[in-house]
Amino acid sequence: MGDKTLCKLSKKDFLKEHLSEYIKLVKNATSVCKKCGRVARDAKKLCKPEKFG
Ligand SMILES: [Zn+2]
Repeated sequence: MGDKTLCKLSKKDFLKEHLSEYIKLVKNATSVCKKCGRVARDAKKLCKPEKFG
């Protein structure tokens, strides 16, 4: 999945094919994307990250 953000990935068929991988990225999330509302443990996976944890 390279360096693509979750914001981009989740718009495609990524979730259908890589749900378990996605869950690892969002589990214990500490950042939220201010633009898309997605969460991730790694802020680099979001396009407009904001730390909350
Ligand atoms: Zn985003």
